[in-house]
Amino acid sequence: VVAALGAVVLAIGVQGCAGGDDPSGDDPSADPSAGAVPDGTLEVRYLDVGQGDATLLRTTSTALLIDTGRHDRDDVVPHLRALGVDRLDVVVVTHPHADHLGQFDRVLAAVDVAEVWWSGATHTTATFDRALTALERSDADYWEPRAGEAVRIGDLEVEVVHPVELSGDLDDDSVSVRVTFGAVRFLFTGDASTAAEGAMIAGHPDLLPAEVLQLGHHGSVTSTGAPFLDAVEPDVAIWSAAADSPYGHPHREVLARLDEHGIPTYGTGLHGTITVTTDGATFEVATERGG
Ligand SMILES: [Zn+2]
Repeated sequence: VVAALGAVVLAIGVQGCAGGDDPSGDDPSADPSAGAVPDGTLEVRYLDVGQGDATLLRTTSTALLIDTGRHDRDDVVPHLRALGVDRLDVVVVTHPHADHLGQFDRVLAAVDVAEVWWSGATHTTATFDRALTALERSDADYWEPRAGEAVRIGDLEVEVVHPVELSGDLDDDSVSVRVTFGAVRFLFTGDASTAAEGAMIAGHPDLLPAEVLQLGHHGSVTSTGAPFLDAVEPDVAIWSAAADSPYGHPHREVLARLDEHGIPTYGTGLHGTITVTTDGATFEVATERGG
């Protein structure tokens, strides 16, 4: 993969340390790299939202948000505002747990959202009810993606890797997508476990190879099995979890497996918001904090 891409550039830049020793006190407005994305560039920001997921992908003409942070924080909209994002082509919610769906209602209230992708799974929580009400009140289009489908959004090719159909397990039914810009591919699998990874390998192995892998389930040992890692063959892995994750994310076994494979790993709990920038041929990784 590296050869096919030419020189893969890995550069860690420390872009300020706003907030200092308070890991939950990030001030997105202090981000000096905020602003427009250059022409011909895709920027993928794995936002530091504590023990949860929210990832912003944007080009000059397109913006996607995959997951909406935790229910008990209010940091996703401030991140979007700081970056000048006032419109999202798609908001993907991988699954209805409160660390992924948490601020969906706030995002819909604050930003012009054209389309919403949910798995179709429902949940019995107040967070889910609030999100559903927000969805019903919005005029965003709604879609339940299924494996094998693909959509072009501006310069981005979005391929649906999972699920084929709902199983009833919220984690394992996570909407999983591969986003391709030029020759650089990013894979997102929400909280899908190794069982779901097995289904992806069996069903759509051609959709799995990616240069940048977000580790499933915040780096939990229940995800990122060895066969999946072999199928994806990432150059870089990124986990999204709190520095003091109550679940011990990312798990030592997963980090050891990545280390064995020689795959550099970054995490929001350690590095703050992680930004991968690509021109479609090479990519760079920049982190908010050293780690
Ligand atoms: Zn989660």
